Amino acid sequence: MRITNFETRLFGTNIFLLWNTDGGEAIIVDPGMMSTEERDRVFEFVDRHSLTVTHIVLTHGHIDHIASAKATAERYGLPVEGNPDDQFLIDTLPLQIQRFRLNIQPEPFTLGKALNHGDTLTVGGEPLQVISVPGHSPGSIALYAPQSGFVITGDTLFSGSIGRTDLPGGDYATLIHAITDELLTLPADTVVHSGHGPATTIAAEARENPYL
Ligand SMILES: [Zn+2]
Repeated sequence: MRITNFETRLFGTNIFLLWNTDGGEAIIVDPGMMSTEERDRVFEFVDRHSLTVTHIVLTHGHIDHIASAKATAERYGLPVEGNPDDQFLIDTLPLQIQRFRLNIQPEPFTLGKALNHGDTLTVGGEPLQVISVPGHSPGSIALYAPQSGFVITGDTLFSGSIGRTDLPGGDYATLIHAITDELLTLPADTVVHSGHGPATTIAAEARENPYL
């Protein structure tokens, strides 16, 4: 499974496109594009490689990860998928967008498909496992690709840091529990792709992350 990253300018959010081959399937993770230009970068990549988008997935419900979710869902005729425990955050999207004077319209939406711990999506036949990692938000999930050896962690775990827990529904003890039980137990050489900042590995974070 290939992974391509599109970073947004305003929040430095990593939008990930998971895809297998030219002309194959793709999953868009965290469509947080903050302008029409940032949307077009993602959409044009999909077109250029003749990909068929099969899922649009949210790691959690914060504005910088979901700002273009509705536009992306409409473009590809797909539901937005995520954990329902973050719907209450998505419901505040218009307010959040107004606050930042963004170059896109506020577009509230309802999750069209629930992703829960243990669910599996596929990209070109390769599994992508849903892991529940609450704490940064109640409905935060990670996406683990065992065959390709990477995990997308949203805002749960970063290179050298962990997610903040002072936002609505956040809880520090829950976050540490989720990271310890669900992420640090993955194979040590698993590459970690975070919602912000550079990639790292499970081994590096287990060894060096000052918050763990
Ligand atoms: Zn967040």
